[in-house]
Amino acid sequence: MKLNELTAHELLDLLKAKKTTPREIRDAVLAGIARTDGQVKAYVRLRSKASGEQEPSGDVSMPIPIGIKDNICVTGEPTTCCSRILEGFKPPYDATVIQKLKGSGAQIIGSTNMDEFAFGSSTENSCYGPTRNPWDRDRVPGGSSGGSAAAVAGHEAIWALGSDTGGSIRQPASFCGVVGLKPTYGRVSRYGLIAFASSLDQIGPITKDVEDSALLLGIIAGYDERDSTSADLPVPDYTKALVNDVKGLKIGIPGEYFVEGIDPQVREAIDVAINVLETRGATFHEISLPHTGYATATYYIVATAEASSNLARYDGVQYGLRRQPLDTRKTPLIDMYEETRDAGLGSEAKRRIMLGTYSLSSGYYDDYYLKGLKVRTLIKQDFDKAFLKLDAIVTPTAPTTAFKIGEKSDDPLSMYLSDIYTISANLSGIPAISIPCGFSRDRLPIGLQILAKPFDEAMLFRVAYAYEQSTPWHKERAPV
Ligand code: GLN
Repeated sequence: MKLNELTAHELLDLLKAKKTTPREIRDAVLAGIARTDGQVKAYVRLRSKASGEQEPSGDVSMPIPIGIKDNICVTGEPTTCCSRILEGFKPPYDATVIQKLKGSGAQIIGSTNMDEFAFGSSTENSCYGPTRNPWDRDRVPGGSSGGSAAAVAGHEAIWALGSDTGGSIRQPASFCGVVGLKPTYGRVSRYGLIAFASSLDQIGPITKDVEDSALLLGIIAGYDERDSTSADLPVPDYTKALVNDVKGLKIGIPGEYFVEGIDPQVREAIDVAINVLETRGATFHEISLPHTGYATATYYIVATAEASSNLARYDGVQYGLRRQPLDTRKTPLIDMYEETRDAGLGSEAKRRIMLGTYSLSSGYYDDYYLKGLKVRTLIKQDFDKAFLKLDAIVTPTAPTTAFKIGEKSDDPLSMYLSDIYTISANLSGIPAISIPCGFSRDRLPIGLQILAKPFDEAMLFRVAYAYEQSTPWHKERAPV
C-alpha cells in the first residue's frame, strides 16, 4: 500500500521505526492529490510552501498531512467558506485548532471544499463547484464538509478537519465511508471557525478509522479562554478508550429513527451492526425520544436565525468582496451593501438569511424563534432522560446512501431532510460519531451513528472501536 493510503497511527509507527520520513509522507499525499483531485475536487486550494510552511522536522510528535475545511482560519492563507463574499480574505490569526495542530507538527496541505458558509448537505453550494464522491463520481460526497470527507476517502489527506452544525461532519463521513466525529458542544474551541450558527457549531475530526479519530480529537480538544463557550474540563487520553470491549454496556435504539423514509439497505446494515455489538456483549434497549419529529423544523429556525445575524457582517466594508453600484443613487452606502451582498452570496445563503431574519423579526419572534428554543430544550431533555439508563444510543447516520449530483439541488426541503438523524445531537449539544458499517448493493458506503452523554467522547470511541475491530469496513478503500 502507498503511504497516503495508510492511517495516521500506522504512519506514526513507521516514523517511530524510522521506516519513513515526514517528507515522504507529504510527497505521497501530494502525489495522491495530483492523481485524483482533478476528478474528485476535494480541495479548493493547496497551501504553497512559499507561504511560510516550515519543513517538518523529524522530532515533532505528529507530522501528519491534514486537509482543513475552508471555514477554519489559517494565518495569511485565504479562508473563504467557499463564498464569493469572502474573496481575498486572509485571516491575520490562526484558529485555536490550527495553533494546536501546528504545535503537534501537522503538515497543513490545503483547504477543502464545502457548501457556502456550511449551508448544505451535498457540497454543491460552493462557489468553486461541487466535490465528487470518490466511491462514485456521479454522486455527492455529502456536506457541508464534503471536501474533507472526500479528501480522506480519496487518499488525498491522511485525515482532515470539518465542522458540524447539523451533521456536516457525520453525514459526509457516512457518504464517503470514513469516520466523522462531532464533539460535545464546548469540547473544541470555536475560536477562528467562521460562524454559521454559534450555538450549534463544532469542529471535529474526519479520519480513516476510530483510532485516528481519538488521536486527532486529542490534539484539537480543550479549554480556550478565547471561546467563551468552551468547557473548562480536562481532556482525557482518548486512546485509553480503545479497549475493544463493550461487555455490559447498555445501548438504546430510538424507535423514532427507524420509520418510513429510511432506505431498506441502510436499515438492514444498521440491524446487522446492532447484532455485531450484541454478540460482543452489549445489551440493546428500545427507547423513545418523543420530540425527534420536531428536530428538523427546530433546527432550521434556530440555525437560520443565528446565521442571519452572523452573516450581517459581510457588507463589503471589512472583509472580502466590495461592489460599488454603477449609477450613483441617493444612498451610496446602503446601495454598496446591497450590491455586494447580492453579488457575493449564493442562493442558499440568501434563502437562509431571509428565513432567519423572518423568524427573528418582531411579531414573529415569539411564534418561531422563541418556540424553537423551547422545543430545543425538550429535545435535549429527551436525551437527558434516556442517558439516565443508557451508555450510548445507535441510529443510522443518514436515511440513504450518497445521492446523485443535482438530484436534490432544486428541492431544498428534501435536501434538509437528509440531516434528519444528525441534527438532534447539535440541538442538544451531545457528542456523536459516524463510522462505516457496510455498503449498499451498488457499493456505496453506509454509516452507523453512535451518540453519548455530554463530554463522554470516550464512550463513542469505546463502542466504535469494538465494532470496528469486529468488522472489515474501515479497511475498504475507495477506487481512485
Ligand atoms: N446540512 C445542514 C444544513 O444545511 C447542516 C450543515 C452543517 O452542519 N454545517 O444546515
